[in-house]
Amino acid sequence: MNLPRTNSLKQLHSEIITCARCPRLRAYCAEVGQTRVRRYRDQEYWARPVPGFGDPEARLLILGLAPGAHGANRTGRMFTGDDSGRWLYGALYEAGFANQPESVSRDDSLRLTGAYISNVVRCAPPDNKPAAAELAACRPYLEAELALLTRVRVVLALGRIAFDSYVRIRRAQGYDLGRPAFKHGAEYHWPGLPVLLCSYHPSRQNTNTGVLTPAMWRDVFVRARALVDGLD
Ligand code: SF4
Repeated sequence: MNLPRTNSLKQLHSEIITCARCPRLRAYCAEVGQTRVRRYRDQEYWARPVPGFGDPEARLLILGLAPGAHGANRTGRMFTGDDSGRWLYGALYEAGFANQPESVSRDDSLRLTGAYISNVVRCAPPDNKPAAAELAACRPYLEAELALLTRVRVVLALGRIAFDSYVRIRRAQGYDLGRPAFKHGAEYHWPGLPVLLCSYHPSRQNTNTGVLTPAMWRDVFVRARALVDGLD
């Protein structure tokens, strides 16, 4: 699949929003937007692919998995309107990357400074499980973002799938990465590339079970801040 021919994030976002490469995911997002859940039944769901969000001059790129069916698929902004977003934006605020800890809707005045958020697939998948072909179909958008976000010094991969997608892109670009393995807290310093920092994803599956604790999560962002500021 070719890279999108874009020279700005704005253009890229326009292309992403109208993408229809994955019929299964497009159908699922539309269906979720039609049926909704009781607590959001009066809201109109975004129900389209969700573009990246943040500062074009970002030095920290956060890479998640996919929009939540009733989170970003509802609100139209990355990690906005669900529990994962509460964890993420709370931590970004604490680390000085966000002007507020809450993220509830696209017009809630949230701004990021020095950080940008993306996902390895832009449409909510059933059971949060994108197929390999869907990951491959969406990968060129991440490649395009990586090319456009020229100031990134740290990539924070949230979960193994985000980690694998990023590694796959860099390998395809010809970088010799050795044999990196995903592990919470691991970091990789490869010549010519941003530092890759790994964390468990702040999904309820991890935060409700203690796999990812508030202290572990806070440490990730303390480390990300130090790396971004060149204090490592
Ligand atoms: S997941 Fe990505 S490639 Fe697939 S339809 Fe959505 S935006 Fe397009």
